[in-house]
Amino acid sequence: TAEVEGVPVAALERHAELAELAEEANWRYYVLDAPTVSDAEYDTWMRELRALEEAHPSLQTPDSPTQKVGAPISTDFTPVRHLRRLESLDNAFNDADLAAWQARAERLLERDPAPYLCELKIDGLAIALVYEKGRLVRAATRGDGRVGDDVTANVRTIANIPHRLEGDDVPDVLEVRGEIYLTVEGFVKLNEQLVAAGKPPFANPRNSAAGSLRQKDPRVTAQRDLKMICHGVGPWEGGTPPPATQSGIYERLRAFGLPVSDLFQVVGSLTEIGEFVENYRQHRHDTEYEIDGVVVKLDRIELQRQLGSTSRAPRWAIAFKYPPEEVNTKLIDIHVGV
Ligand code: NAD
Repeated sequence: TAEVEGVPVAALERHAELAELAEEANWRYYVLDAPTVSDAEYDTWMRELRALEEAHPSLQTPDSPTQKVGAPISTDFTPVRHLRRLESLDNAFNDADLAAWQARAERLLERDPAPYLCELKIDGLAIALVYEKGRLVRAATRGDGRVGDDVTANVRTIANIPHRLEGDDVPDVLEVRGEIYLTVEGFVKLNEQLVAAGKPPFANPRNSAAGSLRQKDPRVTAQRDLKMICHGVGPWEGGTPPPATQSGIYERLRAFGLPVSDLFQVVGSLTEIGEFVENYRQHRHDTEYEIDGVVVKLDRIELQRQLGSTSRAPRWAIAFKYPPEEVNTKLIDIHVGV
């Protein structure tokens, strides 16, 4: 068979085709907030891309969709360079993937990486908030991880995001990361309103949250009932130094008046991680927001630092993804109601 620098032409062509499909989908999903393929289909393309790159490593160039986060931002908002890169997460789809992640961490660290913090993977969009001397000065979307959209005015309309942090030990500079979401109820209501107004409904709660946040007119955002939950921090300068664990950081953020979930749990073993994953698989629809899995993180910040990140995701965290649900019955109801 024909080859170019050791790579069969068929593999080269398939790689280029998939990369183009993924780039197009990324743009529709992240920039337009209106995907035209299902997440399941998109994930199959990405899996095939990764397999091709494993078989032919020269295909894994820095501009491959497998190496990147999100998509370049649109021109509708002012671009903001993040203080520190925002990342995606690697995925686990079964216990073996989870065990492989844990084993790699143990091998690289040359020690037991426990304890682990387990929390829910909220299906919203990532946000980075910058507080200077306790005052909210900027909010930006993840964008491509380095540069995001400035959505400060819109974020100021979100009720559970404080404009000022509480307490007398707030850092001089603090970047808080988290997820902005619309409740499932809010999503269904919004789609009903859009359909009644003859407008296209959003495909899922995540797109509806992204579309609601990235509005030119913050007054529209203000009507959308968005909420936030914190799931990390970036730079933390001055004031009392940050706690040494992820769970400790959450407690501190809570004391600052920031929204933190009550549903995280610190556990000591893979078995217990498995129990957490199973529990929320059963109770997937009991939360007010949509979840698409569980995120597991090393609790100790020092170990997180030692493991670092790949080009797109931290090695110290993993997303255990639940299988996508066939149909969103609530969405179907709306369509049927049209
Ligand atoms: P992701 O959604 O799989 O996970 C990373 C994100 O999870 C983080 O950026 C963070 O914002 C969020 N998150 C939620 N809860 C968290 C928690 N507790 N701790 C840490 N982070 C948490 O990855 P992604 O890069 O944002 O998106 C990739 C996925 O998006 C794909 O797997 C696919 O399902 C979907 N997608 C679909 C299309 C399409 O056309 N249908 C296109 C592009 C992407």
